[in-house]
Amino acid sequence: MHLILLGPPGVGKGTEAEILKKHYQIPHISTGNIFRELFQQETEIGKIAKSYIEKGQLVPDDITNEIVRQRLYRDDIKNGFMFDGYPRNVAQAEALDKVLIELGMKLTAVINIQADDELVLSRISGRRVCESCGAVYHTKNKRPKVAGVCDICGGKLIHRDDDKEETVKKRLKIYNDQTAPVVGYYKEKGLLVTIDGSRSISDTNDQIEEALGELK
Ligand code: AMP
Repeated sequence: MHLILLGPPGVGKGTEAEILKKHYQIPHISTGNIFRELFQQETEIGKIAKSYIEKGQLVPDDITNEIVRQRLYRDDIKNGFMFDGYPRNVAQAEALDKVLIELGMKLTAVINIQADDELVLSRISGRRVCESCGAVYHTKNKRPKVAGVCDICGGKLIHRDDDKEETVKKRLKIYNDQTAPVVGYYKEKGLLVTIDGSRSISDTNDQIEEALGELK
């Protein structure tokens, strides 16, 4: 399975990716998580990325595409991968196509999870993430077993700075201006699967697995 998850920030891509990764035994590649890790490791690229992330802007394409390229050359993607948060504009989608050609790989499907701006804003305000492993929780919809502690790795759960309302509004605008055209890009290639992300986590997951099952 070579998958891309598309959808506005807060629609549940990260949560669905964690479930799908176990189901299909493929790595979850989140460019946002990679940037946050690079910042925690105090790398130069991490610092540059943070300066964009905290403003709610996209990290420049040359940096982002290079990170993805390096990631795709690792051995663990032999059976496939699942991108979450990449590509975020048409130039990135074209860059990804080039790397996939180099590697002799083809996308299986592009899953577009949809929900309106109002719903994603309310979901993001309750979102908490593990600062160590990036796992995603929600104060109402997906609580950890112990408050403030990650079920998976025991890390501390935080409210990301860029999940604060003002920044989320900017991220949504960028999504609508720059990422929404990526949906058309993959639709034209016949790869798009559209999913209603306004219902529960498990309902969204059922829709995705059903659609992917039909593709086999
Ligand atoms: P995410 O965790 O996917 O919501 O990403 C958090 C932030 O990281 C975004 O708001 C961007 O600033 C940056 N980012 C993540 N993925 C990309 C990408 N594909 N292109 C540019 N910036 C990105």
